[in-house]
Amino acid sequence: MRIVFIGPPGAGKGTQCGRLTERLGIPHLSTGEMLRGTERNSPLGKIVASYIDHGRLAPDYLVLPIVTQRLSEADCLGGCLLDGFPRTVNQAEKLDQFLAENAWKLDVVLNLTVPSEVLIARLLQRAEQENRADDTDETIAARLEIFRTQTAPVLDYYQQQKLVKSIDGSKNPDEVFELICQAVG
Ligand code: AMP
Repeated sequence: MRIVFIGPPGAGKGTQCGRLTERLGIPHLSTGEMLRGTERNSPLGKIVASYIDHGRLAPDYLVLPIVTQRLSEADCLGGCLLDGFPRTVNQAEKLDQFLAENAWKLDVVLNLTVPSEVLIARLLQRAEQENRADDTDETIAARLEIFRTQTAPVLDYYQQQKLVKSIDGSKNPDEVFELICQAVG
């Protein structure tokens, strides 16, 4: 199965993908993790950090090759979970193109919905626990705004393909996982 997770920062995509990857035995591809994994002191790492640390989207010329290369690796041939990608309609179109070239397709797009006051509380808590450089008041606001303006339209794009299933991500993690398992059958 090829599954896309869409949800604002703090919706629980990482947590739920971590569980689902074990249940389905397919890899979990997080573009945020991949980008954060770039050596911060390297020239590329400095460019990447200048986006992530301000809550801005990294440019497609950096993100698209990382994703398509990873999708072509042997462990992804049987499917994967995409967490944090695509985040713009342009990325969704490029992903569709890449999948079609390989005679692949997406099976489902899971839309994790969570009210913004719950998101902000979760992100501030994560900031304390994980010490992520992009979990500050300012960057949280920037990332939520980018989700609203750039990523939410990706849902409309996939609605047209009748791929979207919405999940109430405000419930506790066990309940959310149960809903996800039902949605992916
Ligand atoms: P995440 O771990 O998914 O919350 O992503 C953390 C940060 O990585 C985001 O705020 C962006 O700066 C960057 N990022 C992750 N995925 C993408 C993407 N698909 N396109 C552009 N930037 C991304």
